[in-house]
Amino acid sequence: MKNECSIVRDILPLYLENMVSDETETFVKEHLKDCPECTAELEALKAGSKIEKVSNEMRDSLEAEVMKCMKAVRKKFHKKAYRVAAVIAGIFIIVCVLLHFFPVYRMIDIGPMTMGNYYSGEQIAKAISIGSASDRREAQAVLRLADQAFHDVRHTSVENEEKYGLLARYATDTDSYGDTAFNEHSLELWSAHLGKDEGYIWVYYSSKTFNHDGSIAHGSRDIPSLWKVERNGSGEWVVVQIYEHP
Ligand SMILES: [Zn+2]
Repeated sequence: MKNECSIVRDILPLYLENMVSDETETFVKEHLKDCPECTAELEALKAGSKIEKVSNEMRDSLEAEVMKCMKAVRKKFHKKAYRVAAVIAGIFIIVCVLLHFFPVYRMIDIGPMTMGNYYSGEQIAKAISIGSASDRREAQAVLRLADQAFHDVRHTSVENEEKYGLLARYATDTDSYGDTAFNEHSLELWSAHLGKDEGYIWVYYSSKTFNHDGSIAHGSRDIPSLWKVERNGSGEWVVVQIYEHP
């Protein structure tokens, strides 16, 4: 091996990567023309770098493939989890809507003891659906009158009956309860089912009337109550019958 050969061999890796000056390049080219050994060395280097390049490419593509696979698995898992969550949310919403329009749980409040005993099956059936929105709106007028009766602690029983009709039972009579101070009550419209001239309203109420010394004069708690209503001459709904658990 000539002395020039050892210099060329040192340069060859750089020459292969085109990282030498034009001058050096010309020098290497000139030498390679007449030196089969160095030419063979260059070919060997080329082949080696090719293998490295190919293996690098293979590794990269393999990596990309693995990443793609993992991504797909993750995506699939997410999709499945989302689908399960969506189904659960959907069922939850449907149950909420059903319970809103058909609050069957109220059966418990009416009580298994009174079912088919005090209230008729038809009356109870009305309690498990809220009725139409317009019926409920119209029923509010009846509830407002009951609300007024509850607040009234200043009139005699005769005056209350005149003013509130059957709803007078919710007013506090000065003749029977004496000097009462104030009334606390809650009144909830359960459902309203109004026909052309008559209908039914289910309400739920609690009431407490207090004496001036803070003692309770009388009260009722959590009473489910069914009011039968009829239209009067001026088209207003009037309570004509009250069904209440004794
Ligand atoms: Zn050589």
